[in-house]
Amino acid sequence: MTERSRSAIPIVGAGIGGLAVGLALARAGFDADIFERTTRFEEVGAGIQLSANALLVLERLGVFGLVCSASTAAEAVTLRDARSGKAIAHVPVTSREGSGYLVLHRADLHRALAEAVASEPRLELHTGVELTGLSADGGRAVLRLKRDGREFERAHPIAIAADGARSAAVSSLGLAPARPTGRVADRFVVDQGAASPALAASIEAWLSSGRHIVTYPVRGGRLLNIVVIGPDKTEPPSGEALWSGLAAPLGEALRRARYLGRWPLLSAPAKRRLVHGGALALVGDAGHAMPPFAAQGAAMAIEDAYVLAQSLCLEPDPRLALRRYEAERLPRLARLRSRVAFHRFVYHLPRPFSFARDAVLAMRSPSSLRDDLAWLYDWRP
Ligand SMILES: Cc1cc2nc3c(=O)[nH]c(=O)nc-3n(C[C@H](O)[C@H](O)[C@H](O)COP(=O)(O)OP(=O)(O)OC[C@H]3O[C@@H](n4cnc5c(N)ncnc54)[C@H](O)[C@@H]3O)c2cc1C
Repeated sequence: MTERSRSAIPIVGAGIGGLAVGLALARAGFDADIFERTTRFEEVGAGIQLSANALLVLERLGVFGLVCSASTAAEAVTLRDARSGKAIAHVPVTSREGSGYLVLHRADLHRALAEAVASEPRLELHTGVELTGLSADGGRAVLRLKRDGREFERAHPIAIAADGARSAAVSSLGLAPARPTGRVADRFVVDQGAASPALAASIEAWLSSGRHIVTYPVRGGRLLNIVVIGPDKTEPPSGEALWSGLAAPLGEALRRARYLGRWPLLSAPAKRRLVHGGALALVGDAGHAMPPFAAQGAAMAIEDAYVLAQSLCLEPDPRLALRRYEAERLPRLARLRSRVAFHRFVYHLPRPFSFARDAVLAMRSPSSLRDDLAWLYDWRP
């Protein structure tokens, strides 16, 4: 490992949050070292939706072009009955000013951020380095790191943990871990040539009792991403049980799809603080993992990154800067948590309650549905 300036800020984790916070710090004039336990980035996950709040930050970080070139733009999410295929509502997803909404493969988003990190002289990415322990008190963070079986320690005035929902930083501090929500996501992809053209360019959320399915294009439209979110009671779905009873284009797409695997959906305790010992800031899922009912986990990690770098830039005392970061982020995350719980309830309603839901949604205009989410998509740091 090359020696870096003593003032380089350590970041643990090079997922979406870790790379975004590295870039945001570098653009604000800070050096940072990013420590990532894996040595090779695998194609983790499949699709990701990015709303205007995240795109605004990506633009300021100078990666919008790279992200955009791998994406498909969307204007609305169509809610549908999963059995009949009938449209229940069209929910606009662009901001009030018309800022866009993109869907893409997570690996393409990760690659865009990783390329920007690689060409940023203020940043150094150290792969194959695992955080094995951490303490944060008395105004300093001490990280225990392991590389090639050898452990070493580094002490810094501040450190950032962006090591995901199963954060080693969080467990080192003795905090309550993120818990299973009882829901899982089964992910699939299918070649667009094998799926119905009706699904090719749009985001569809297919609702049914106890589960919902989201479809949208990724890889510039070559693949259709399919996510089935349902209870954690059953074996991963396969065969006819997976597609029978579903509307024709959806059932057909699932019948031909390739299974990518199951993601347990975790939720971090609502009361988790984002700053510990005045020296450690949590970013992304490490701080606030939530199930993806509002498709905002990566967006929140990207927002965190920008607000944290901005706070460190505006407030010379790092302790006060971290406090400012937390004060700005917690109310927004609390509001999002409520929205996620609302979607989870509404999307999975059984009959006859789903009829009432559909009737209420049918009476709402698209612009009033957009207004419900304006606080989320129209956010400005
Ligand atoms: C089915 C599904 C659909 C989703 N859809 C969307 C969506 O449409 N839009 C959206 O915004 N979000 C979505 N999300 C959420 C989003 O994927 C996550 O919120 C986001 O990836 C979190 O990023 P992160 O950087 O915080 O964590 P991660 O992506 O988990 O990255 C953590 C990184 O830390 C590394 N690491 C872990 N432990 C250590 C250690 N001890 N030492 C060193 N490194 C370590 C890991 O290897 C990894 O690289 C979805 C999630 C799921 C499951």
